[in-house]
Amino acid sequence: MSTLKPITVNVDAYLGLNKYEVDEGNPHIEVAPEPETELFKELVRICPAGLYKMDGDQPMSVDFAGCLECGTCRIVGAGAIIASWRYPSATMGIEYRYG
Ligand code: SF4
Repeated sequence: MSTLKPITVNVDAYLGLNKYEVDEGNPHIEVAPEPETELFKELVRICPAGLYKMDGDQPMSVDFAGCLECGTCRIVGAGAIIASWRYPSATMGIEYRYG
């Protein structure tokens, strides 16, 4: 009988393989002027790239430079957090690499 070996995955290492062309000055995601705090906390928890930040008394912040374009925040934060969400312009945004 064979035993299965556990597989470990380093998500940060995989994310580090991706290439990004950041469209500076033309963000593809715009946050509402007064984002709802509790819902923002949810985005901190669920964004797979960890781009939503909120530490203690620190203000809410988002850095879209590492966006995976998964659309999760678009669905969860529509209206209350996300004022607009669209894919980056052609040739901009993420280029996935798989090792
Ligand atoms: S689209 Fe996905 S990766 Fe990009 S900011 Fe939203 S939740 Fe994070």
